[in-house]
Amino acid sequence: MSTDHVVIIGAGIAGLSAASFLARSGYTVTVLESHALPGGLCTSWKRGQYTIDYCVHWLMGTKEGSEFNQLWKDLGAFTNDDGSTVPIVNFDQFSTMGLSKGDSITLYSDLEALEKELLRYGDEDRKEVHAFIASLKKLGTRFSDEKTNILGSISQFLTLFKHLQPMKEYSKRFKSQILQELFSTEIPEDWSLIALTLGLSQQPYQCAGYPVGGSLNLAKNIEREKQSDLESHSDITARWIA
Ligand SMILES: Cc1cc2nc3c(=O)[nH]c(=O)nc-3n(C[C@H](O)[C@H](O)[C@H](O)COP(=O)(O)OP(=O)(O)OC[C@H]3O[C@@H](n4cnc5c(N)ncnc54)[C@H](O)[C@@H]3O)c2cc1C
Repeated sequence: MSTDHVVIIGAGIAGLSAASFLARSGYTVTVLESHALPGGLCTSWKRGQYTIDYCVHWLMGTKEGSEFNQLWKDLGAFTNDDGSTVPIVNFDQFSTMGLSKGDSITLYSDLEALEKELLRYGDEDRKEVHAFIASLKKLGTRFSDEKTNILGSISQFLTLFKHLQPMKEYSKRFKSQILQELFSTEIPEDWSLIALTLGLSQQPYQCAGYPVGGSLNLAKNIEREKQSDLESHSDITARWIA
C-alpha cells in the first residue's frame, strides 16, 4: 500500500474522479474545496418543484455499453443515496434555438427530422446539410455501443478532427443566413464545432441522456461513493475539507 499523500484542489467532477481512483489505488487523498458543495460547475438547484440545471443537459455514457458508461458506474454517479439507479431521459429534441429575425430552429435527435429542419431554412445548402448529417452519424457511432472496423474507426477519427474547427469558421460554409446564424450562435462562435456535435450526434443512439435528479445529485453521488472508497481503506486517513 502506498504511503504517498495526494492533495487535490477542487471537488469538481475532475477532482472527485481523481480522488476516487487514487483512493482505490491505495493513496491517501485529501480534497480541498472552497465551496460548501461538491460538483463545481456540475451543479443544480431547486425552485419549488423545479430543478434548475446549470450543467449536465446531456451526459456521455448514459447508455449501457457505450463509451464512459462503466466509468460513471465505477464512480457511483448513477447510484442515488437510497440505492436506486438514476433514471435517464432521452429527449426527442436536443435544443431549440430562437434566431434574430424571429425564426426558430429545432435540433431534433432523429437525424432525418434534423436534416429536414435544416433544409427548411437552407435548401440552397443541401450538399452541406447532408455532409453535416453524415458527419453526425459517424461521430455518433464513435461513442455508441456499435462496433466498427478499422477503416470506420479512421473515418470517425478524421470526422472528430474536422469538428475541432471554430463554429464561426464552420458557419461560413452555409449560404443561408439563417443556418449561418444557427451555427455561429448555438454555442459561442469561438468554440469548436465539436462542443455542439459531441452531444447532438449521440442523441439518435441514446448514449448521452439527461440524468434525472440533476447535476448536483450526480456530483453528490460521486462524492458519497468517494467517501466509501476512502473509508474502505482503513489505513488511509481520508479527509474531505469544504
Ligand atoms: C453552462 C454549462 C453547461 C454545461 N453542460 C454540460 C453538459 O450538458 N454535458 C457535459 O458533459 N458537460 C457540460 N458542461 C461542462 C462541465 O460542467 C464541465 O466540463 C465540468 O463540470 C468541469 O469539471 P471540473 O472538475 O474540471 O471543473 P469545475 O467544475 O470548475 O471544478 C473546479 C472546482 O475547484 C474548486 N476550486 C477552484 N479553485 C479552488 C481553490 N483555490 N481552492 C479550493 N477549491 C477551488 C471550485 O470551487 C470547483 O468546485 C457544462 C458547463 C457549463 C458551464
